[in-house]
Amino acid sequence: MAGHEPLAYRLFIDGKREGGSQVMPVIDKYTGETFATVPVADGDAVDRAIAAAKTAFPIYSRLPAHKRHEILQKATLLFEARKEELADLIAREAGKPWKYAIGELTRSIETFRFSAEEAKRIHGETVPLDASVAGEGRIGFWMRVPVGVVAAITPFNFPLNLVAHKIGPALAAGCTIVLKPASTTPLIAIRMAEIFEEAGLPPGVLNVVVGPGAVVGDRMVSDPRVSKVSFTGSPPVGEAIIRKAGLKKVTMELGNNSGTIIEPDADLDAAVPRCVVAAFANSGQVCISLQRLYVHKDVVAEFTRRFVEATQALKIGNPLDHDTDIGPMIEDREAVRAEAWIEEAVAQGATLLCGGKREGRVVHPTVLSTVHASMKVMCEEAFAPLVSIVTYDTFEEAVRMVDDSPYGLQAGIYTNDIKKALYAVDRIDAGGIMINDSSIFRVDHMPYGGNKLSGLGREGVPFAVEEMTTIKMVMIKP
Ligand code: NAP
Repeated sequence: MAGHEPLAYRLFIDGKREGGSQVMPVIDKYTGETFATVPVADGDAVDRAIAAAKTAFPIYSRLPAHKRHEILQKATLLFEARKEELADLIAREAGKPWKYAIGELTRSIETFRFSAEEAKRIHGETVPLDASVAGEGRIGFWMRVPVGVVAAITPFNFPLNLVAHKIGPALAAGCTIVLKPASTTPLIAIRMAEIFEEAGLPPGVLNVVVGPGAVVGDRMVSDPRVSKVSFTGSPPVGEAIIRKAGLKKVTMELGNNSGTIIEPDADLDAAVPRCVVAAFANSGQVCISLQRLYVHKDVVAEFTRRFVEATQALKIGNPLDHDTDIGPMIEDREAVRAEAWIEEAVAQGATLLCGGKREGRVVHPTVLSTVHASMKVMCEEAFAPLVSIVTYDTFEEAVRMVDDSPYGLQAGIYTNDIKKALYAVDRIDAGGIMINDSSIFRVDHMPYGGNKLSGLGREGVPFAVEEMTTIKMVMIKP
């Protein structure tokens, strides 16, 4: 494809493709080639996108549930038919190895399918008003109603599925949307909007604008016509958005420095390969990526030997090659940061067991040991292909170390001792605890979200639908 004119993508506003006075390049993260361009939305474009969503709301929110179901269901079939082409697009714009890009497509289709199913299930309850003397003789019920215009702001690392986790539930609930994808990965979101148009979604219901978060995102979250902000990204940006949003519903899906414990009774044949994937899939750029591995002293030598061997067998290369395991990181500065963190840890006494090398945006999968809790690689979110192995004596100590984090998204415990598993469930303050798996386990209908700096609210289709709706109480005095 080298040497071809970059493809000119367009913003998607009120069902129309729009250009702009300014365009930005979208590069293939592995080759560095500009393979597409996309317009930067100015203030007027953002304003028109919000206005379109606001105008579409009273009509779309009254579309019967079976019709909302039908549009979502049809979209899943269209995604299915274009799965490979869309996986190529993700592999190029996100630098995500194809095997993970196709996995993201499979999951996104499932997220939209769950959303289609959920569209038919949204309901309320009756309320026994006569439990109060004042309610005698009255009938009460509450309904779940769509919240209004949703501003959805998404990160680069799952440029389709994390968008799907907002768009699917919002469409199921009857909300209209303005979406701002990450500036590094805007194309798949625009393709998604076109697919929904083909599936019969009326104009104005889903609008996609592109541009710097601090400008475009900022306008979206502070606009009074927006009723709900659904954000996935880093904690500092999440906090800034909450301050700007004022009295709006917010969902915040933020970062983590996930830990997993390996007890002596763990099945190492299962744990080692799974932990390697958990640490290095998408170059560690996964919010529940395994960053801190706590391994019991009785098995640490064997576990580490096998883990390092499996890490060294990972294939580094072009994400478009179907057997590549490790591709580039999203931006040069991120790869440089990861390299600097590794060097700093080694200077502070960490042992480099493998990796530690950077070639452009590609950081080789890195395993460290003899780390301490105050090193950046341990106490901050790495979001890079690096993992640290810590040896522990007692299970209680390991649980305490996993929990000793400003984040609380997910954690993993490999043990067959149910008492120990439940002890960890009780003591670790996180949104999810995975037993006999690492922190990275997720399917798209389970509740998903974090405590502490990891966020506010939950996604996972049925839970996101709740977040996209509000409750309306009705009382009837016959
Ligand atoms: P990011 O820098 O926070 O950006 C996320 C989105 O926010 C992008 O669309 C960005 O736009 C936009 N943005 C930036 N500044 C903004 C502002 N002031 N107002 C409104 N929007 C703004 O995050 P990232 O680097 O793309 O993604 C990595 C982070 O996301 C990590 O911390 C990771 O853990 C977290 N994450 C969490 C989950 C989860 O479900 N909990 C899932 C995936 C990722 P630009 O692209 O234009 O800067």
